[in-house]
Amino acid sequence: MTTDPFHILFDISLPLSPRTLRYQGDPSLTLTAGAHIDRGDPFTVSTLTLGLHTGTHLDFPSHFLKDDRDSSAFQPDRFLRQALVIDTGDVPVVSADCMDGAPVAAGDALLLRTSNSRRRLLHQDALREEGVVLSADAARWCVDAGVTMVGIDWLSVDGPDGGFPVHHILLEAGILVLEAIDLEKVPAGRYTLIALPLALQEAEASPVRALLLPPVHRDRR
Ligand SMILES: [Zn+2]
Repeated sequence: MTTDPFHILFDISLPLSPRTLRYQGDPSLTLTAGAHIDRGDPFTVSTLTLGLHTGTHLDFPSHFLKDDRDSSAFQPDRFLRQALVIDTGDVPVVSADCMDGAPVAAGDALLLRTSNSRRRLLHQDALREEGVVLSADAARWCVDAGVTMVGIDWLSVDGPDGGFPVHHILLEAGILVLEAIDLEKVPAGRYTLIALPLALQEAEASPVRALLLPPVHRDRR
């Protein structure tokens, strides 16, 4: 058993490149070198353009709500969480029934491993198949359970049918939404989650590097 508190068990971030899966209409990622050592410049300096919802990212309340809870409103401890990964099996939609009895504690991040992970839907070369998302009653269950972050192995917590009820319910409650996490190899269980956004000010979302570490045992003296 490791005693290293920083032992990384899983990197659940998607690689960021022009090939990263995105919704049609979302801006594509470009990385362009203005100066490059291959062209005789003394150094390489690149410019990155990307939508803030590219790859693994956090949504803040201002993504859907007219309020001031944007990326500037959250202290870094909100991005370091005890986390529970639950496997929802083959359900077509994650409902409250899928979570009933889950040993989640107030303050936790709840990460949902759906059939999207087994089907490797985040690794499609283009968006051909829609992934499993949450139902509104599942979102309300998360609010009642007092979780502070909800993560899913798909581009969105909401389906494409409009209205975005899951985003609204979660973000109104101040629950951060972690989208496009890669849980393919991650067994259900307890972890420590690190999902740090850029220190970008006044943004509605940010790409994150998301890692799972061993759980913290708070009851040990
Ligand atoms: Zn988003």
